[in-house]
Amino acid sequence: MTPDLSEIEAAAAHQNLAVVGVTGGTVLLGPLEPGFWAAFTKSPEWLDGQPDPMDRWSDRVISQLADGLGADALFPFGPKAGNFLQLALDSGTAWSSPVGMLVHCDAGLMVSYRGALVFDEALPPVATPGTPCIPCERPCTTACPIGALTADGYDIPACKAHIASPAGADCLENGCLARRACPVSQTFARDPAQSGYHMERFLG
Ligand code: SF4
Ligand code: SF4
Repeated sequence: MTPDLSEIEAAAAHQNLAVVGVTGGTVLLGPLEPGFWAAFTKSPEWLDGQPDPMDRWSDRVISQLADGLGADALFPFGPKAGNFLQLALDSGTAWSSPVGMLVHCDAGLMVSYRGALVFDEALPPVATPGTPCIPCERPCTTACPIGALTADGYDIPACKAHIASPAGADCLENGCLARRACPVSQTFARDPAQSGYHMERFLG
């Protein structure tokens, strides 16, 4: 039997994860803030110095959660990969932003999906808000200092070149200025060190 959403939320919170969307029997999980990064960096996956600590942590923790709650686990990566873009849109808590990437009702442009729990039965529908992009003055479209991320698209090579240069140190250490310009992102207490980690991985 599928547990109540409150039971799922409580079990996820024990692992510093939040329910960030529900669609049918699929419950999407993302970092619970504040505190996710501080907890994650104490995990064995972070401390062992091996590659891909975030994905390995997600795999272990969400697989254990799924076992405990009678669900299957789904991830944005690896052999159990699902279409998280579509699931996020279907959940009604994330939308396409003017700069192309997803914007989430709570996390804004800092949204991140670590995995999902898939139950046999659908959960009751959850009330969902409207997109925060209406109305919004769209600072995400103009915040990139080199115009690499605008309503016209994302120039990834230009972005990478910038963050690899001294002028791009702020993006590299604290995260993308365009994502940080979103007023919804600004209410979401993500540790800048987490954004810096993802930027370093992006740079390769
Ligand atoms: S800055 Fe405004 S328009 Fe851009 S993603 Fe955030 S809410 Fe939407
Ligand atoms: S990381 Fe910096 S350079 Fe790249 S798109 Fe974001 S603001 Fe622009």
